[in-house]
Amino acid sequence: MIIINLLYIGIDDTDSPDGMCTTYLASQIINEFKENGIELADYPRLIRLNPFARHKTRGNGGVSLKILNDEKASLAKEIVLSKVEELSMFDCDNTNPGVIFYEGDITKEMEDYAFRAIYEFITIEEAEEFGKSIGCEIHKFKKGRGIIGSIAAISLPLSDFTFELLAYRASENYGTKRQIDYESVYKMDKETFPDTFENIDYSENYIAIEPKTPCPVLYGIRSDSVEALEKAKEIVQVQEPIVDWCIFKTNQHTDMHIQKARDIASMKQFGCYCITGEVKNKPTIIDGGHMFFYIGDKSGEIECGAYEPTKNFRKIVSHLIPGDVIQVYGGIGEQNTFNIEKFQVIKLNDIVYQNPICECGKRMTSAGKNKGFKCKKCGKRIESSEKVPVKIKRNLENSKFYETPVSARRHLSKPLCRMKF
Ligand code: ATP
Repeated sequence: MIIINLLYIGIDDTDSPDGMCTTYLASQIINEFKENGIELADYPRLIRLNPFARHKTRGNGGVSLKILNDEKASLAKEIVLSKVEELSMFDCDNTNPGVIFYEGDITKEMEDYAFRAIYEFITIEEAEEFGKSIGCEIHKFKKGRGIIGSIAAISLPLSDFTFELLAYRASENYGTKRQIDYESVYKMDKETFPDTFENIDYSENYIAIEPKTPCPVLYGIRSDSVEALEKAKEIVQVQEPIVDWCIFKTNQHTDMHIQKARDIASMKQFGCYCITGEVKNKPTIIDGGHMFFYIGDKSGEIECGAYEPTKNFRKIVSHLIPGDVIQVYGGIGEQNTFNIEKFQVIKLNDIVYQNPICECGKRMTSAGKNKGFKCKKCGKRIESSEKVPVKIKRNLENSKFYETPVSARRHLSKPLCRMKF
């Protein structure tokens, strides 16, 4: 039996809102690896962690690489550390890079740690202690917070995964408007969707492959297959140089952040869950355009929100009525509100109780508490105070899923086009 000895490399927290991107840094490392005859044993990985992590720059992503642990391993380590030294945004208080080297197999406790980094918060001290306990070589720059994500990035098992192709800009163009031919993006989407996804938000005419920050990324295309990404890259036209590009294997759009909650009472703030409950009140919109309603089960109730950036999704949510049973997917944020990413209708309430219709055709009104109904038109009265069930037509469908638009989608959220029905 041949035993392959591998070296895992984890890198995180090198960028700031003003620039850089850990994926770009990784692509620079990979180039230097190639020049030195060091080959990757698999695709580089971009791993998204807890969407509620406090110190994230944007999407809370860490990067990991896997190479053969041979005579070139120490050169590889030198390349990684010098690139992190050279390219990290050290001037930003919030940039605290961390690099991890790990030799050996990924163990169950490492996998558990990685899921904790998606579901919970981990301190630098905890990460360091854990890293030491499994024999990691740990490199902290400044506070070294990046080691939290670096260990998770090498450890997370990817039972489900997608790919992202990232194209990078020339440094003199950083911060300037990206020169992407939008027509070609529409063409690419038409020819490659659903093998590629999240390209365009048609409801908003929003080109989602284009970042809105001054980072080195020109565009990022997401897909289930590498072949579709290569085809998509051929179709998308740009009027500025692409200095480099790289395909990452990733947990984006897998719903890996979603935990199945036992009941409403068991869910915790800053956790992401899937939970079934009964709609308790008619969704209402407040100033700022956010829409809220409550769902409940035997254990309690929680407020659910469809926020302003979810745009037309709020219109769908507005069709919910008390008594509907839905399964919601999302996370409990700052205000303790469940931020909906998508929902499935389990059972629509298509019966509402109304005042009876009088013989003369007019709907009756209440004659007072426990005094039955009266007709304002012909004066007829009935003694019973029982409202009558009326079947209503609904604008939603049983069993159907409804999701937020591409422009409001979390990196980890699985879009319906990836769900197997
Ligand atoms: P980008 O997406 O542009 O690469 P980012 O949003 O990933 O940026 P980082 O600069 O990587 O932001 O900062 C995120 C920080 O949060 C890192 O230091 C990472 O180690 C840390 N972190 C990741 N997951 C957790 C967690 N579960 N608990 C605490 N800290 C975490």
